[in-house]
Amino acid sequence: MATSPVLIVGSMALDSVRTPAGSVQDALGGAADYSGVAASFFSPVQLVGVVGDDFPKEHLEYLESRNIDLQGVQIVRGGKTFRWSGFYDFDLNVAHTMDTKLNVFANFKPEIPETYRDAQYVFLANIDPELQLQVLDQVRKPRLTVCDTMNFWIDRKLDEVVEVLKRVDMVFLNDAEARQITGHLSVVKAARALQALGPKTVIVKKGEHGALLFHGRDHFSAPSYPLEDIADPTGAGDSFAGGFIGYVASQGNISERTFRRGVIYGSVMASYNVEDFSLNRLRSLTMEDINRRYSEFKEIAFFEALEEATA
Ligand code: AMP
Repeated sequence: MATSPVLIVGSMALDSVRTPAGSVQDALGGAADYSGVAASFFSPVQLVGVVGDDFPKEHLEYLESRNIDLQGVQIVRGGKTFRWSGFYDFDLNVAHTMDTKLNVFANFKPEIPETYRDAQYVFLANIDPELQLQVLDQVRKPRLTVCDTMNFWIDRKLDEVVEVLKRVDMVFLNDAEARQITGHLSVVKAARALQALGPKTVIVKKGEHGALLFHGRDHFSAPSYPLEDIADPTGAGDSFAGGFIGYVASQGNISERTFRRGVIYGSVMASYNVEDFSLNRLRSLTMEDINRRYSEFKEIAFFEALEEATA
């Protein structure tokens, strides 16, 4: 397997989350942390972000233990780490934000280390779209650029979000975000409108109901996984994205077939992630677990054409 690193920029956070299954306070979270750890199962990762000196050292050690390069992570002396707090009701697909404190992200200027600038696979995880643009300005000739965002940034910085969309090859959004940006209620129309803005490929995540891949004129649908244990949906989108891009980078090609398998690996990572709070489930996950669930996904999605079944 090729081992092309994936460059990821995004929030590194301490999250306080409440769900019907329980709660955590100041737990490891953030889009870059979830996606970086998920990607690290498939490819080496180069992380770009910022934390304050209140960010526990053991979190940095954990990220390093996952083959994640932290040269691009700034630690601000006396600064406070980004914090997000939110809750989920019984509709686990909807995150209710209570508070977002950008803290050290408010004045962050990403400095991409020289060794990261030739990255072939770049994931602009959820963060201020202006920072996503600054990262795009500093990488030389990536093979695949992918971005994510959320309602917080669509509400505040739509022009910059659209600017990012114009410059990337692929975007991941959930169905509500795709509707919010384009104004189309139909997810299919929203995906086509997003493609018209720039990205050739659009992935619409539908929470526990699977994901849709729109690639050129083609379309692929990943099934939902019948989860028995669900504790905390936080980071599902990011672990999906990390699993996807980590897998694609490990294959060294950007064909539609690879993207389809990537969508299933992404779904596998997201389905595990939600089984526990924070990144706890990913901590004990093995490649064997991943491959087992990938096979289950294959079986869930398999069906025969009617003529063959009745023959
Ligand atoms: P998701 O995969 O969409 O559930 O993303 C969850 C992560 O997004 C949490 O761990 C938060 O720390 C992070 N997050 C929440 N709000 C923002 C924001 N405005 N910008 C960047 N990251 C955020």
